[in-house]
Amino acid sequence: MRDDADATTDVLQTLIRNACVNDGTDDSGGESRSVDVLRDVLDVRGVDVQTFAARPGRDNLVARIEGSDPSAPSLLLLGHTDVVPVNPDGWTRDPFGGEVVDGYVWGRGAVDMLNLTASMAVATRNLASSGFRPRGSLVFAAVAGEEALGTWGAAWLAEHERDAVEASYVITESGGNPTPSRSGTKLPVITAEKGSHWCTLRIDGTPGHASQPFRTDNALVTAAEVVRRLAEFRPETTIDETWQRFVTALDLGDDLRDSLLDPVRLAAALDDLPLGFARVAHACTHTTIAPTVMHAGTKTNVIPDRVDLQLDIRTLPGQSSADISAMIDDALGDLADRVTVLAAAHDDSTASPIDTPLWDALGRVARRFYADASLVPTMTVGATDARFFRRLGVPSYGFGLFSRAISYEDYALMFHGDDERVDVESLRLSTELWGALARDFLT
Ligand SMILES: [Zn+2]
Repeated sequence: MRDDADATTDVLQTLIRNACVNDGTDDSGGESRSVDVLRDVLDVRGVDVQTFAARPGRDNLVARIEGSDPSAPSLLLLGHTDVVPVNPDGWTRDPFGGEVVDGYVWGRGAVDMLNLTASMAVATRNLASSGFRPRGSLVFAAVAGEEALGTWGAAWLAEHERDAVEASYVITESGGNPTPSRSGTKLPVITAEKGSHWCTLRIDGTPGHASQPFRTDNALVTAAEVVRRLAEFRPETTIDETWQRFVTALDLGDDLRDSLLDPVRLAAALDDLPLGFARVAHACTHTTIAPTVMHAGTKTNVIPDRVDLQLDIRTLPGQSSADISAMIDDALGDLADRVTVLAAAHDDSTASPIDTPLWDALGRVARRFYADASLVPTMTVGATDARFFRRLGVPSYGFGLFSRAISYEDYALMFHGDDERVDVESLRLSTELWGALARDFLT
């Protein structure tokens, strides 16, 4: 079984070194480099490999072990190959070195989600090499562009190459951090995700000479107040069913549990939690508004007459674009009519049911690795490629397995953060998980 971990570690190191950094521009990413690597990994009998490029340099790979029974349920393991940018100043090691130090693989993508992509590829290869002939098909897809709306990856495949990625169920990132509790080990499974509402606010002013700023209509000064109001705005606390199930299942102790489920006491409870968990707990129970990019001004001696401010807003289940526009107006108060909303991209929150055969199979298989484990349905506060498949009516979960070396807290802080790394034992667990799940669920 060392072999599994070694093979997955090797693939992960290569994917990290390929540095498929997606900065949000259409020609970033370069995921074809990693598709080439995965094509070699999957070059074994019994696996059909296809590649699809929606844009040059941004290939997607789809590998398939064809099932013998077209009516049997099939499973798509969905990994992405791109990563978000880094600021190397905050890193202890080279973020694209892929070094293994003291049992950890270091680098951007180590937990998001090159670890899982590598383990899915190696598990698919191992299954085929061992002569695995399932009733239902096993599909593995390595997709580009997850970190920028899936435009060149999962969204494109779901729209243009539906047959290639057709499956009864999907598993993608993330989940599976073992969390101890009085009633055994809890393993979060992502069953829902928040929606997103990305918009640009334009604030206009009047240009003038910056040597005489008295009573000028400086768009940047107005924008500063807009940002301040958005930062101070407190959207209402929402305790929904997924949050209730998650908190209850974590078995945190009566007092903490009650505060996390009480809309009035939650704010005080957040102050006492470790920062990683506090951020997740806050985001799971609130619409969040983060000002992220501002463009203003042209020259030091000119009063700016125009500011464009980008907001990353994450929505709760059931919130529409109109709900969010009303919330922005509410936050801005009398400044609302100084602001024009230029463009808004709204993606509704999505969710999958948990009364499915795949849910049961995941629980059975997970208990081979953690004998006292139970699964906990969870909402992720970010966006994943699962949403494109949920919208097609395909139940989609986020899962994987981590060792006890990586807590939920560590994981939350490393995700898009500094010093991202994963232990080799976690790579072994995920690789074995996919093999065991395919044998359980598809045969
Ligand atoms: Zn990811």
